[in-house]
Formats: sequence, structure tokens, C-alpha cells
Amino acid sequence: MGGTISSVATAGTAEVSPSLKAEQLIESVPELASVASIEWGDMTTIASFAVTLADMHELALAVEQARADGVDGVVITHGTDTIEETAYALALMVPRGFGIVLTGAMRNPMLPGADGHGNLLAAFLAAAHPTLAHLGPVLVFNDEIHAARFVSKSHSTRPSTFASAGSGPIGEVIEGRVYVWFTPAYDDELGLPDAPPVPRAPLIKVASEIDDLVLRAAIESRPDAVVIEGFGGGHALPPLLDAIDDAIARGIPVVMAPRVFAGRTLERTYRIPGAETDLIDRGVIPAGHIAGHKARLRVIVGRALGREASSLFPVL
Ligand code: ASP
Repeated sequence: MGGTISSVATAGTAEVSPSLKAEQLIESVPELASVASIEWGDMTTIASFAVTLADMHELALAVEQARADGVDGVVITHGTDTIEETAYALALMVPRGFGIVLTGAMRNPMLPGADGHGNLLAAFLAAAHPTLAHLGPVLVFNDEIHAARFVSKSHSTRPSTFASAGSGPIGEVIEGRVYVWFTPAYDDELGLPDAPPVPRAPLIKVASEIDDLVLRAAIESRPDAVVIEGFGGGHALPPLLDAIDDAIARGIPVVMAPRVFAGRTLERTYRIPGAETDLIDRGVIPAGHIAGHKARLRVIVGRALGREASSLFPVL
């Protein structure tokens, strides 16, 4: 899928851009020959901030095709900026029972200490491991295995960037061996839409004393839903409340996710305008234990499958 793992300098520039193909990535790690018999394909070669819902849907179809072809698992290389979103989109669209591993790099292959080679080797070791079939899509990075729902990029440059705040990694890859400690007890799968999901669900983040300008603009676009990243356990400041009421009156679902990096939205703690009980009374849907950008994917895929937003949350 591109990303830093595939990025090298092209003629005349010091900066890098995604260009290496899957075959070149595989050839760059000779140790892979003793791990698995590998077939490859290139979906696209782009920076991950340009990855679309249509790309994620096409990837889900390709993963299903690979499963039908009888391979043991798949490894997807991807830019790190949005790898956690593609991982979660696959968790929404692809059933368990098959190893799906995503990986990438923070340092491109031309830099000292490039991490892509080690990450790729660990990713293939994990994908070939029978336990992976039970975990849903995982991210393998920096020798750690992370579940799609919880993993997030936590630092803009460090190779140790990926973390699952509030839960931790579910396993690791050490000395060429895969250790899985935990199996996610939930299942994120909703189903695979026939057509690519249309991303008509704006994500709005709160901050102290913001006004309702962005929220009102979002409502005017007549979206399928609005996802708000609220303070703490899912709170909205008073200037947003009228706009939230307007959205709900117009039949636009409003989903509230936490702005903080870990934890779930509250449902029965605070009673004051803008707090969770007030918002729920107004018709706001608490997202549960999921970050705003992943709640947005959930509502987009759910709507593409004909599901009401209220049936998709709160995520347990
Ligand atoms: N900008 C890159 C991307 O997400 C960053 C990376 O891959 O690490 O495509």
C-alpha cells in the first residue's frame, strides 16, 4: 500500500516518496525465504494519508480473495499515518479465521536504523502463526503485536510509536518466535459492503471555547452521521448544544467518542448541560470504548450495510 517502508529518494531530491513495490520489499529481506512461501501483489503505492475508504474496501476484497485461494495469512505493508484506520476497517469488514497482519516503517530504507526490514520479518512470522487467525487484524511493529481496535500512532517519528493505550500489546515477536498473550474477547466485524463505503461522516474535535461553526457546517452538508470527539468521558461544551439538537432534529445521528487516548465514553456519572447524561437525553449516541477516528469508520461501514448508527454503539 506504499508508506515510508516503501519510500526512497527519487532523482534529484533528498526527500523520499513511496515507490518500492512488494517484490522489492520481499527481496530486501532474504530471511523471509525460510519463513513462508510468499505470493505478492501491489494495491497502490501511496502515502497513507491519501488512503481512501474505497482503498480499504478493495483491500478487504483482496484479503477475502487470498483467503479463498487458500493461503495461511496476509501481510499488508502500509504507511503509518493511517495504518490503524485501515487495520480497523479490515476488522469491520473481514471475519476472523485468517491471519491479517499490517506493518510499515518509521525510518525509510535509506536511513541508518531503518525499521522496515525487521518489521516485515516479524509480520510474516506472525502471519504464518496459527494463533493469528483468532485475533482479527493486528499491527506488528517494533516487535509488538497490537489489536486493530486499540492501536494508535503515539509519536510522530519514533520507531516505538505504536501503542495500545489503556490495554497494551497482545503479544510480541522475539528471537524469531511469536508469542500471543491475549485474544480480543470482542469482535468488531459488521460485514463487507457490496460497494465501497461513502465517507459521509465528519469528525469534529472539541477544544476549550470552540464555537459551533464547524459543527454547523458539517450538519449543513447533510451527512449520514456526525462523530464528535468530546472531552473526557464524552462531554460537549455548551456552545455546541443547540447545533447538536438541530442535527438530531434533522435525523442526523450524533455519535460521541472520547477525545482522550484511552478509555470509554461515560453513560451515568455527570448531570449538567453538555455532560454525558444530558447528551444522551438529547439523543446523542455514546461511542463506547473506541477512538473517534475509528468510531467514524464504524458508522461509515455500518451505514453502507444499512445499519442504524444507534445499533452500532456503544462499543463494548
Ligand atoms: N507519511 C507516511 C505514510 O503514512 C508515514 C509512514 O509511512 O511512516 O504514508
